[in-house]
Amino acid sequence: MSLKGKTAIITGSNSGIGLGVARELARAGADVVLNSFTDRDEDHALAAEIAKEFGVTARYIKADMSKGAECRALIEQAGRCDILVNNAGIQHVAPVDEFPAEKWDAIIAINLSSAFHTTAAALPMMRKAGWGRVVNIASAHGLTASPFKSAYIAAKHGVVGLSKTVALETAEEPITCNAICPGYVLTPLVEAQIPDQMKVHDMDRDTVIREVMLTRQPSKEFATVEQLGGTTVFLCSDAAAQITGTTISVDGGWTAL
Ligand code: NAD
Repeated sequence: MSLKGKTAIITGSNSGIGLGVARELARAGADVVLNSFTDRDEDHALAAEIAKEFGVTARYIKADMSKGAECRALIEQAGRCDILVNNAGIQHVAPVDEFPAEKWDAIIAINLSSAFHTTAAALPMMRKAGWGRVVNIASAHGLTASPFKSAYIAAKHGVVGLSKTVALETAEEPITCNAICPGYVLTPLVEAQIPDQMKVHDMDRDTVIREVMLTRQPSKEFATVEQLGGTTVFLCSDAAAQITGTTISVDGGWTAL
């Protein structure tokens, strides 16, 4: 599978799943655009490392995915977008009646509305190029719920709905739109949830990982960023040309329960 000549933009890709997806797309030959809201030397260094390792063009573009205009500017600044991976995301854990309103707004903006803005900006470029792939990194929480994560779960269900709608609007074109629904992947986002979960459940770290986080993941193993990258590359392949408007779970059996 070669993605040579394609340009992939991956939002929120200076760590975790986004970086893993960017690396697998670059391994498959795509030029990549990394993104986050910071503009540090190490952000640009990540792009330089990918360019060197895989022999592709790799750039880092700063844009804050909580702001619609910056989401659209990211796509415009990249200049080309054959593959769009909407991955940027944050989390906050609290009961709904104590959930801070500003956290709700930020989660909806970054985890859901950003995908609307980037997709709206990217579709004209995909149409012009005559090919396109939109891959939204949703979650098992885009298909099921858990307590204390109201904003995240609302946003991820929204991402699944957005993916279906974009798929229908592009159904007669060589463009697909799908959502990948990971279970737990050990990344900084998950790492940051562990202290909150320990507090809410009054458990130590190992018990919270086994009994709370992986309790619904029957494989009892975290998924890896490489597996999510590989799934994204598959969705960009010719074999996946008729896969659109659906979800692919990478969750160790979570949603089979
Ligand atoms: P992470 O914290 O490692 O990565 C999140 C990325 O989003 C980072 O690059 C961060 O810089 C970026 N980001 C955050 N706010 C941003 C903003 N305002 N503008 C631009 N970028 C911003 O977390 P992760 O686990 O790699 O999560 C990536 C995606 O995968 C998220 O959408 C998350 O909901 C989803 N997901 C993660 C898991 C998991 O278990 N890790 C499971 C299911 C879904």
